[in-house]
Amino acid sequence: MKIEVYFSVYHTLHNPPFELSRGKQQEYFENPQRLKNILKILEQDPEVFEIHPNFSTNVPNIKEVHSEKLLKFYAEISKYLSDDDYHIPDTFAVPKISLLPEDITKRSGYFCFDSATPITRRTFSASLNAASTVVKAARKILTDKNKIVYAAVRPPGHHAGKDYFGGYCYLNNSALGAHVLSKKGRVAILDIDYHHGNGTQEIFFDSDRVFFVSLHANPAYAFPYFWGYPEEIGEGPGEGWNLNIVLEDDADNRAYLQKLGYALDAISKKDIDYLIISLGVDTLFSDPVGGMMLTEHIFEEMGREISKLKLPTLIVQEGGYDLTQVGKCVLNFLTGFLG
Ligand SMILES: [Zn+2]
Repeated sequence: MKIEVYFSVYHTLHNPPFELSRGKQQEYFENPQRLKNILKILEQDPEVFEIHPNFSTNVPNIKEVHSEKLLKFYAEISKYLSDDDYHIPDTFAVPKISLLPEDITKRSGYFCFDSATPITRRTFSASLNAASTVVKAARKILTDKNKIVYAAVRPPGHHAGKDYFGGYCYLNNSALGAHVLSKKGRVAILDIDYHHGNGTQEIFFDSDRVFFVSLHANPAYAFPYFWGYPEEIGEGPGEGWNLNIVLEDDADNRAYLQKLGYALDAISKKDIDYLIISLGVDTLFSDPVGGMMLTEHIFEEMGREISKLKLPTLIVQEGGYDLTQVGKCVLNFLTGFLG
């Protein structure tokens, strides 16, 4: 069996020189080398991985997931910034207010929730290319229900909400993919990134078409801090359609697999037609941004366990920042999934 791989060619357009984290300037961990390393390792096995580059930035359903004012802001700030410019908001709207300031460099603080998600002139183009890649991959799933498709994309997406961005994410790739699939059936999004997928949670919080299940580090001390608690179970028709499973940083392979089993059990109890995996490999022990106590071999086991759901599956790349291991971890996951 083959895995089709769609990748966002223009991801290299988004390459900020640094980020502000914990008040300090540091290297930008969400950099193009991550995806290059993943592709380099998958390209070595063309028998298994059929790689399709995506050059498009067309995302037909974008307005059904993100607000028009957020998209307008991205378009305007892209025009405002010059090639060398680099923008990090400095004043944040808390609580969210209804008025947007005229100065575009201040407007960013209305939409952004952290200082680690800078905008350059080409950030929006790169994000559209990533989102377009995932939408294409989702459509591929619809044409062949036995398919497994992996979307190798960046910037990642799971922290981006309807009208906010942060955590290296600008557009919610997995949510856009889920939106496509949810027209044809019920979808589960299983988010196994180290960090809670707060954006995806927000987008589907009141929906009973998309079951959001996230395994992540305890938000009491791990980004994004304000979301990701087990009490967040969805609302209205979506009540019972949001499941947060919290792990501690000292979780080892065994502890992780146990919680993953709980997540898979919850998914198998619902009537689900399609699965999306928000694949973050930043749970690896050596990850400089996340990091539990997981070793690289566990990803193969994770893939194998999840594949037992036997659902048409779209795998979307989220985090994973150990440049020496990210490719191997993704390869292990995909290999395990194939069985
Ligand atoms: Zn992450």
